Amino acid sequence: MPAVDVNDGHHIILVHGGTITDPGRVLDAQLGVIREAVTAGNQRLAGGTAALDVVVETITVMENTGLFDAGKGSYLNREGYVENDASLADGRTGRAGAVALLRCLKNPIMAARIVMERTGHVMLAGAAAEQTLINLGAEAVADVENYFKPVNRMYDRESGMTGTVGAVVLDRHGQLAAGTSTGGTRGKLAGRISDSAIIGAGTYANRDYAVSATGLGEYFIRRSAACDIALRAGYLGLSLQQAADKMIHDLIGGADKAPGGVIAISRRGEIALSCNAYGMLHGYASDQAGVTAGFMLSRP
Ligand code: ASP
Repeated sequence: MPAVDVNDGHHIILVHGGTITDPGRVLDAQLGVIREAVTAGNQRLAGGTAALDVVVETITVMENTGLFDAGKGSYLNREGYVENDASLADGRTGRAGAVALLRCLKNPIMAARIVMERTGHVMLAGAAAEQTLINLGAEAVADVENYFKPVNRMYDRESGMTGTVGAVVLDRHGQLAAGTSTGGTRGKLAGRISDSAIIGAGTYANRDYAVSATGLGEYFIRRSAACDIALRAGYLGLSLQQAADKMIHDLIGGADKAPGGVIAISRRGEIALSCNAYGMLHGYASDQAGVTAGFMLSRP
C-alpha cells in the first residue's frame, strides 16, 4: 500500500479483525463488515470528522456484528461468561481511556471513551466500573445471557481465528487516533486482562504514530509492544514497517514464539501491517486509494 503524501488534508483509515492461521475459516461476512466499516469511516474522514470519532464509530460497528471477538461476539472465559476489554488513544491530546473485565456493557470502546473524557482516569475495570460507566451514559445490555453469542461457537479451539478488532486513523487535520477491543483469548481465566485494555501494549497513539495490535496479549504487555513500535520508529528513524516487523517478527514471533500482528500509521502517511501468523483480517482506505479488505498481507 502506498503512503499518502505528507501534505495536510489527507486521511487514512486502517482496520484489523485479528490474525488467522487457516484461511478456510475466514467468513465472507467478516470481510464484508470490514469493507463496510472502512467505507463508512473513509466517508466520514472525507467530510472532516475527527480521527478519534472515526476510530470509535468503526470499532462500534464491528463490536455490534457478533462476527468478531469483541462486543457481541466475544469469546467466553473459562467460567463461561464474557469479560470485555478495550482501549482508546488520542494522538492529538495524548489522552487515553481503557476498560477491562466488562460483563454487561454493549460497546466497550465507547466505555473507554467515557473513561477518557469524563472521569479524569485512564482505566476502569470490573463491576464497579460498569456501574460508574452506566451512570455516565454507557449502554448496558438488557439480556446478557442472550446478547453475547461468542463467535468461536463456529470454530474449534484450534482454528486459529482470533477476531480482536482495532482501528488506526489519520484525519484531514493531521490528527491520529487508535483503538482496540476484544473479548480476550478463548477460555482465559476469569479476571484476566488483555493487552487490548492496556495503553502502550495493545493500543498507542501520539502526535506522529497510531498503533493497534492483536495476538497473544501477555507478550504484547511484556514488551509494551504498541508503544515500542511508535517510539522505535520515532527515535531510531526507522520506517514504521521496519519498527512493526521488529516487534512482530523478531521479538514476539521470533524470541517469544508467540502469535500476533499489528496495524500502524504515521502522520506522514506511512502505513504498516505486520503479522507473524498466516494473515490478519484488515481493511484500508484513504483519500488517495479505494477501499480494500482482505487477510493476506502485502508484506512480508
Ligand atoms: N490480544 C487479545 C488478548 O490477548 C487477543 C487477540 O488479539 O486476538 O486478549
